Amino acid sequence: MAESPFPMQPYQGIATFGRQPHTREIAAADVAVIGVPYDGATSYRSGARLGPRAIREQSLLLWGYNNALGVAPFEALRVVDYGDIDVVPVDILATQIAIERDVKRLVSHGVRVVTLGGDHSISLPLLRAHAAKYGRMAVVHFDAHPDTWDAEFGEHRYSHGTPFRRAIEEGLIDTAAYVQVGIRGPTGGPQDYADALRLGTRMITLEEALERGVAAIIEEIISKVGRRATYVTLDIDAVDPAFAPGTGTPEVGGFTSHQILQLVRGLSRLNVVGADVVEVSPPFDHGHITAILAANLVFEILSVMALGQARP
Ligand code: MN
Ligand code: MN
Repeated sequence: MAESPFPMQPYQGIATFGRQPHTREIAAADVAVIGVPYDGATSYRSGARLGPRAIREQSLLLWGYNNALGVAPFEALRVVDYGDIDVVPVDILATQIAIERDVKRLVSHGVRVVTLGGDHSISLPLLRAHAAKYGRMAVVHFDAHPDTWDAEFGEHRYSHGTPFRRAIEEGLIDTAAYVQVGIRGPTGGPQDYADALRLGTRMITLEEALERGVAAIIEEIISKVGRRATYVTLDIDAVDPAFAPGTGTPEVGGFTSHQILQLVRGLSRLNVVGADVVEVSPPFDHGHITAILAANLVFEILSVMALGQARP
């Protein structure tokens, strides 16, 4: 009989992601799950600094086999829990430097990184670290918000509302292969979306996604991105707050849990080399439902990585 990869009860021991080993010995890792407990760039209600811990805690029941995709990601990949980045709660630039430094080291050694946020500002240093190895990235971005403001709170260029504008300016994203999915909700005016479109994003609003259907959206993403090195960034507020209330800037009328699972599973034909799941804010969660969903979305991303690497 095969030895169980999980010798303990799910609720026993220290909560690492998916009960995978906690180590910084990256030589033996295909994928490192890391936490970035930082929410100092949040514009509305904070709490995402507690996201990584909550997602790990709610990942204990991920038994290992993905029945929808037919893959066991913890067997196909050597997954480790790297622990958390040393963030500086009062300093976004110092935090960005710390993220970029650690993740660059991982990525340069060929380790794929899946990050538990944290607010969405952390995607900028994560993209810097990935682009240093892969060049301009294809990006699949699930969110209620484009996050392409030029500045927030006056002239502040770094917040969780600006990371993708900065990333485009810095040449980290190939805008011909940048798709935003799930955008919705009221804005200050039409210029928010117009600005994002002018930057070159393919913005698929929530309305368009539901009108055309999940399968058609997946096909469009695949045809746009192809097999190039792809970064997936998933703001949990892409999901309806009825399913994911634990987030900082909720927008009603989003994807259901099942729709976001389908969308992520649809990426298994892509070459996903890095990903983050951000904006999980446990103080606003109920019965851990947001953190449970986030943990499962990370499991789906790991499954997609396992399948994607097997393809030519
Ligand atoms: Mn958002
Ligand atoms: Mn966002």
